[in-house]
Amino acid sequence: MMFRTRFAPSPTGPLHLGHAYSAILAHDMARDAGGEFLLRIDDLDQSRARPHWEEQIYADLSWLGLTWDGPVRRQSDHFADYETALQTLRNSGLTFECQCTRRDIEAAANAPQEGAPIFGPDGRIYPGTCRNLALPPTAATCTRLDIARAAEAAGPFAFTETGARHAGAHNVSAQELATTVGDVVLSRRQMAASYHLSVVIDDSATQITHVIRGADLFEATRIHVLLQALLGLPTPTYHHHDLIRDDAGKRLAKRDDARAIAKYRSDGAAPQDIRRLVGH
Ligand code: GLU
Repeated sequence: MMFRTRFAPSPTGPLHLGHAYSAILAHDMARDAGGEFLLRIDDLDQSRARPHWEEQIYADLSWLGLTWDGPVRRQSDHFADYETALQTLRNSGLTFECQCTRRDIEAAANAPQEGAPIFGPDGRIYPGTCRNLALPPTAATCTRLDIARAAEAAGPFAFTETGARHAGAHNVSAQELATTVGDVVLSRRQMAASYHLSVVIDDSATQITHVIRGADLFEATRIHVLLQALLGLPTPTYHHHDLIRDDAGKRLAKRDDARAIAKYRSDGAAPQDIRRLVGH
């Protein structure tokens, strides 16, 4: 199968050095493998996505000398696909509707067992309040995956990681998912789908063979692999790269405009300077 990867920024702010690192790495790995590099615009959160940030993404990547194959995929064009997948999962009986507010969840999780993790890759571990209430879906509920039952149903599964920090095969157990991830949200009020559900659908629809992205998403990968198993989708190979940090060792955030590629450009930097700065 041809190597195919993607870069999937959200148009909610300027691309900074961390994005440049990720995009260049994915692009170069695809070109070295004689494969394809796709660009996806992760504009799932329509309340934060802005057309001018999307334009800036194209301009910055082109300036960096990166070329992408085929049409750009925009998540906002695929809300119906996410809804179909959500419906499939609902029909499987492995989801439930949840009416808890953030405050409800915090209150219920107030007395965690000693040593139990409180936060997982999907935020605070859901305490299970609505799991067995069989609430109907309404505008005020979100849909969650009953992760222990879902992982049991999907059977044992694994994924391969090629990033240096976690390289190797990773087996995922239902027990571990239940205690360290919890019942993840699949769709939220006012959002077509959660990040987890949308990227799984997108990567499969675009036949991505290698997901190359920052190490901050390594822990969430177990959720993605579970969703792939439940939806009968192939699992790509994953490659999580270390994050670019600022001089103080802090991870670069989108709002860190000082590291925006556009800023380096306007200060007269050349694309090779960016490659050198991020260590490519
Ligand atoms: N859109 C996500 C982000 O900007 C990346 C999603 C992914 O690579 O799976 O963090």
